[in-house]
Amino acid sequence: MVDLTGAQEDRAMRLHGEAVVVDTHCDTLMQLIPQRRGKARELGERSEAGHIDLPRMVEGGVTCQTFAMFTGTRAVVPEALLTALQMVDAFHGQIEANEGIMAVTKPDEILAAKKAGKVTGLLAIEGAEPLMGDLGLLRVFHRLGVRMLSFAWNWRTPFADGLNAKRSGGKLTDLGVQALEEMDRLGMVYDVSHLADSVFWDVADVKKGAFIASHSNCRDVCDHPRNLNDDMIRALADHIGVMGMNFAPAFVDKEKATVERLVDHIDHVVDLVGPDYVGLGSDFDGIGSTPLGLEDVSKMPNITRELVRREYSDEDILKILGQNHLRVFKEVIRN
Ligand SMILES: [Zn+2]
Repeated sequence: MVDLTGAQEDRAMRLHGEAVVVDTHCDTLMQLIPQRRGKARELGERSEAGHIDLPRMVEGGVTCQTFAMFTGTRAVVPEALLTALQMVDAFHGQIEANEGIMAVTKPDEILAAKKAGKVTGLLAIEGAEPLMGDLGLLRVFHRLGVRMLSFAWNWRTPFADGLNAKRSGGKLTDLGVQALEEMDRLGMVYDVSHLADSVFWDVADVKKGAFIASHSNCRDVCDHPRNLNDDMIRALADHIGVMGMNFAPAFVDKEKATVERLVDHIDHVVDLVGPDYVGLGSDFDGIGSTPLGLEDVSKMPNITRELVRREYSDEDILKILGQNHLRVFKEVIRN
């Protein structure tokens, strides 16, 4: 696979060890809530199943893992709120049970944890169903530690239309615009992954400052509606935002997804807008299969190896592994 000279291997390992590695999306919380049938595992125990647990995060050199709460209901029903609250409980409970990981809400805490040799977890919501159309619940989730939010998974919510609700060509709803303003006031990162294209463009129009696409790739490299086209990538860069590269094989390469093909997406963003707007957003534990060379979170260093093989500079590799996302966190998150 990624074949490096001894010197390249040393450089890759040094850089990966130095880097603040940020992954802006995983669905591991679905595996950690006891209320869900077939709860798969404990965060602190190494498992052969799925993609993320603490031992494998340590091995993969991850500094900050965003844990998304995806509640999986199409309707805006109380069950979505209940599931999200159970996930908040599982997130804090599992982290408190393990010395090597801490829950964070601020970028400073991520940097301090890196110095202390600890992994960090940041809480996010994927799809705003649990908010039940209530800005009060947005504030409650902020108090519970949520610092990143997308308004829709693939369906329609009171805030916006997701990809599978694109027929109407909708914009943010009035409530969506209010929620965006409230997120700015609170200091929460806005995530456009999964939105219908027309909503993406409305966000780009309405939103001041940076937003991210936590787990979306390039449509020009792999034509899939979950990926961003070049105009969207330029708009994201105009906002000084970041897109996290998604490892879902269908978004990487329809024929054969590999770590090399994933890095082709990174190359594409860098060629188009420069090295400041791309990061990692694995989607681990939310995807059924993985690219060759990225079988679980312990394989994250293979991305660094491939970037080294392609002769990226130290500075650009550190940006891509996490500094770019950290820049947005510093800009947006207040407390
Ligand atoms: Zn997703």
